[in-house]
Amino acid sequence: MIDTSVILDNIKTIQNKMSAAAVRSGRNASDVQLMAVTKTKPAEVVSCLLEAGIRCFGENYPDETAGKIDAFRAQPDVRLAMIGHLQSRKAKIVADLFDEFQSLDRLEIAEKMETLCAERNRVLPVLIECNVGDEASKSGWHFEGASIPDEFLSDFEKIQKMPHLDIRGLMILPPYAEDGELNRKYFIQTRNIAAYLNEHCGAHLTELSMGTSSDYPAAIEEGATIVRIGTALVGPRDYKNKV
Ligand SMILES: *Cc1c(COP(=O)(O)O)cnc(C)c1O
Repeated sequence: MIDTSVILDNIKTIQNKMSAAAVRSGRNASDVQLMAVTKTKPAEVVSCLLEAGIRCFGENYPDETAGKIDAFRAQPDVRLAMIGHLQSRKAKIVADLFDEFQSLDRLEIAEKMETLCAERNRVLPVLIECNVGDEASKSGWHFEGASIPDEFLSDFEKIQKMPHLDIRGLMILPPYAEDGELNRKYFIQTRNIAAYLNEHCGAHLTELSMGTSSDYPAAIEEGATIVRIGTALVGPRDYKNKV
């Protein structure tokens, strides 16, 4: 059983905090999208969120998403994004079922997706995942301090030239911090990387996907256009439901 009223309350609380953070930094609340992260959650949770007006969803495990795809497609204007580390052998599912790929974390998977999207005659919006916390356990291009590694720039240029991938912005998943303030430096760094790419590499990045349950207000203050929220919206995850 899912508790619809709890989810509705959570949405309200989160939207209020999102608006307040936007206003504090002189932005419009409408410039920031709430993405519901529904990994391990059953189709009923997706339906409940849709009924509450949520249209932007993030999922991590392609097989699990495939199992509840009908729930997402109950509304025509849903934007479903892949946000988890993508194994090559699951790339086809993303090319077939997802609207967007936010966790593009290495050149090899970009090449794979380019081929799959060319075959399907579609252009896939992507975000480039930056490992700004320089954590060994996380995916994405590694960044150390404020500098932008040559290897990243060279891969970025190659992806820019792929006709079936449309780079819309950057995505980060910084170290978990109970106090979201601790991640502010990573949000600023990500904004700076995007500005550099726009200024010096002919990029047109408009999306910054950053901020989760523990740190989305700080992320919004530093320019997030998408916050990806799971726990604060739909409660703790049930990993036994992961397929
Ligand atoms: C699970 C996940 C989230 C949601 O995290 P919460 O702390 O539950 O809000 C956001 N982004 C990514 C990439 C995730 O894997």
